[in-house]
Amino acid sequence: MALSQPVSVTADARASAPAASARMFLRRRRSGRCGQCRRPRPRAARDPAREAARLGAECRAGLLMSPRLRGAGPGQGDDAAQGGTRAARAARVRHGDRLGTAQGAQKGAGVDGPELLPHPLAGGAFPSPVPPGIGWPGDPADSSTPVAATPGEVASLAAGAVDLHALDARISVCRACPRLVSWREEAAVAKRKSFADQPYWGRPVPGFGDEAPEILVVGLAPAANGSNRTSRMFTGDRAGDWLYAALCRAGFAAIPTSTHVGDGQRLQRARIMSAVRCAPPGNKPTTAERDACAPWMAAELAEVLPTVRVIVALGGYGWDAVLRSLRDAGVRIPRPKPRFGHGARTAVELSGGRCISVLGCFHPSQQNTFTGRLTEKMLDELFADARALCAPE
Ligand code: SF4
Repeated sequence: MALSQPVSVTADARASAPAASARMFLRRRRSGRCGQCRRPRPRAARDPAREAARLGAECRAGLLMSPRLRGAGPGQGDDAAQGGTRAARAARVRHGDRLGTAQGAQKGAGVDGPELLPHPLAGGAFPSPVPPGIGWPGDPADSSTPVAATPGEVASLAAGAVDLHALDARISVCRACPRLVSWREEAAVAKRKSFADQPYWGRPVPGFGDEAPEILVVGLAPAANGSNRTSRMFTGDRAGDWLYAALCRAGFAAIPTSTHVGDGQRLQRARIMSAVRCAPPGNKPTTAERDACAPWMAAELAEVLPTVRVIVALGGYGWDAVLRSLRDAGVRIPRPKPRFGHGARTAVELSGGRCISVLGCFHPSQQNTFTGRLTEKMLDELFADARALCAPE
């Protein structure tokens, strides 16, 4: 979509207004007031040409997503579902239109453009969400990374990734699920109060850890204020605190904490990934979203499976996702399908006759750890089992 089209704020809003009030809407707009909420519109928003020029300048400076990411071309579907292009939505938020979905977004984004905040460890200044290629530490993507905008494009881009790094990059810019793109970006702009001074990654989260792991940990999806903020799997929330501490005690993580990229955390012989790469509302992706994301998991699994000996599936969702992905890769899964439970274990035979183990583990969510359903001792015992299974026969 051409840069001159932020005026589609009007088109979008008009479309949602009752037909009977269209004339009133246009009269208000000509008077310099928002057509929907009647509040005065900032000067820049009243002048489409000026607004377009400003957005173009921000885009060239890397402060906004590329036109492709903003809704031109394949990204258009998700933006349409949110009510116009990303630029249009951003303009709504900037001028305080009550149609903006996040109150915090209205506070966070000034009339002069996206709010820039320093990375807690690396410094610099980043908007939320973070566009690819502007210097976020460890960002695998840049402005030339191909963007999947439909489930079909996820499948083709996942299959075409030449290595793990290319796969991470493609995952990190995916926009195939309109609802999740909207949710992750709104969470990034609105921010939790305790993280209001931090930029939020606001993009899909690639796998983290050893590129030739022996143990693979598979979770459900990033948390809106955890990985969706920090860009690293299970980093920045209580579930991650439990997981990394247990991995460290078992000898798989360099340090017991994982707070931000740049904190010195490193996984040894281990890797963490999730079945869905974007933070979902209520931690519940839809079946369609799960299926759309499955090719990313399948491609990552194919890259690391040659060295993997044990897969630790976190929660029933992770368990099902692992078995489904292995089955789709041609691995024979025992029938009836093994049931999930903490400590559940099943062995599957890969092509070539090599066997790997899948271990079930309660998810270290606060729901489980606060209630005592999952204790440190239980986690330690499970990772001790995993380590024993990794030992050469
Ligand atoms: S959930 Fe997966 S497929 Fe959907 S937008 Fe995120 S990365 Fe893409």
